[in-house]
Amino acid sequence: MSGPAESEQVVIIGSGPAGWTAAIYAARANLEPLCLIGVPRTNPAPVLPGGQLMLTTEVENYPGFPEGITGPDMMQAFQQQAERFGTRASGLDVVSCDFTSRPFKLTTSDGTVVQAETVIIATGATANWLGLENELRLATSGGGVSACAVCDGALPMFRDKPLGVVGGGDSAMEEASYLAKFASKVYVINRRDALRASQTMQDRVLSNDKIEVVWNSVVSDVVGDKVIEAVELEDTQTGAHTRLDLTGLFVAIGHTPATQFLDGSGVALDEAGYVVIDGSSCRTSIDGVFAAGDVADATYRQAITAAGMGCRAALDAERWLAEHE
Ligand code: NAP
Repeated sequence: MSGPAESEQVVIIGSGPAGWTAAIYAARANLEPLCLIGVPRTNPAPVLPGGQLMLTTEVENYPGFPEGITGPDMMQAFQQQAERFGTRASGLDVVSCDFTSRPFKLTTSDGTVVQAETVIIATGATANWLGLENELRLATSGGGVSACAVCDGALPMFRDKPLGVVGGGDSAMEEASYLAKFASKVYVINRRDALRASQTMQDRVLSNDKIEVVWNSVVSDVVGDKVIEAVELEDTQTGAHTRLDLTGLFVAIGHTPATQFLDGSGVALDEAGYVVIDGSSCRTSIDGVFAAGDVADATYRQAITAAGMGCRAALDAERWLAEHE
C-alpha cells in the first residue's frame, strides 16, 4: 500500500469492547473503519483478539443482557454489529507506528504498511497471572479462577463460600472488600509481611472481620479438576507448604497495558505504560491519534466503560477528520 489515496480514514487497533464500539460509530458515520484485530500470540507481548472478555465466562453486569452473556459471545455480537455497518476486520498485528506525518503508517508483523488519517488505539491491558498451569486452565474454563472480582465475584458459585485474593496492592484490597460482601470468608494472600496498598485501602481490609491476610505466602499450585478446591501455599520465609481450601481465587497482581508497539512512536504513556489521554476527550499526545478502553484507563477496566470510551474516540476521530478536510 502506498500513497495518500489509499490511506484509511480511521484505523482501529484492537478488538475488545472499546475497539468494536469505536468501529460501530465510525462505520455508521460512513468512515469505513479498518479494525486490526491482531493474531493470537503470547510472545513477546500477549495479543488476544476480542480482548480480556475472551477469558470471561458469564458477563452479568453489561446492561441489556438480563440473563447474562458469555464474554466470547458478547465480542462476537459486537463484531457482527460493527461489520453490519461496513467495518472491515483484519487479522493484521501492528508491531510499530510512524506518527511523524500524515498519513500515519502502521507496520504489521507480516511487513504490510497500513496508512491512516486517524488511528484509535484500543489494545487493552492484560491481567497479570501467576503463571501456574492449573491457574490458567481453571481461569479459561470458568473453574472459579478469575482476574476480576467486579466482573465475576457476584456469580452464584462464589456466594457464602471461602474465597482467596492474591496480591497486596490497591486492586487486591478493593477486590477483597468487594468479595467480603457475599463470601463467607476472604483470604488475602500476600507475598510479603507488608501490603503495598494505600493506608486507607489497607485499613478497610484489616478492619473487616470477614477478611484475613495470609502473610509471607505465595500460591504454588491451584488444586481442582473442573473447579478450584484449594490452593497450595508456600511460606516465603520458611519454604513450608500448606493447603488452603477455597471455592474461588481472584488474582489481583496488576495489569500490563498493551502498548509495546507504541515504543518510539511519540505517543505519551504514563509511568505504568498506559496511554495518556486528554481528560475531556480521547485525544492522545499525537494530533489525530486517539485511545480508548483499558489501554488508557487503569481505573475502571469494565466492558461498559471501555465501550463508552470507544464511542467517544470514534466521535473525536470523526470531528477531527471533519475539521481537517
Ligand atoms: P500494584 O500496585 O502493582 O500491586 C500489585 C501487587 O501484586 C503487589 O502487592 C505485589 O507484591 C503483588 N504481586 C505482583 N506480582 C506478584 C506475584 N507474582 N505473586 C504474588 N504477588 C505478586 O497493582 P494494582 O493493585 O493493580 O494497582 C495498580 C495501580 O492502580 C496502582 O497505582 C494503584 O494505586 C491503582 N489502583 C487504585 C485504586 C483505588 O484507588 N481505588 C484501586 C485499584 C488500583 P509486592 O508488593 O511484593 O510487589
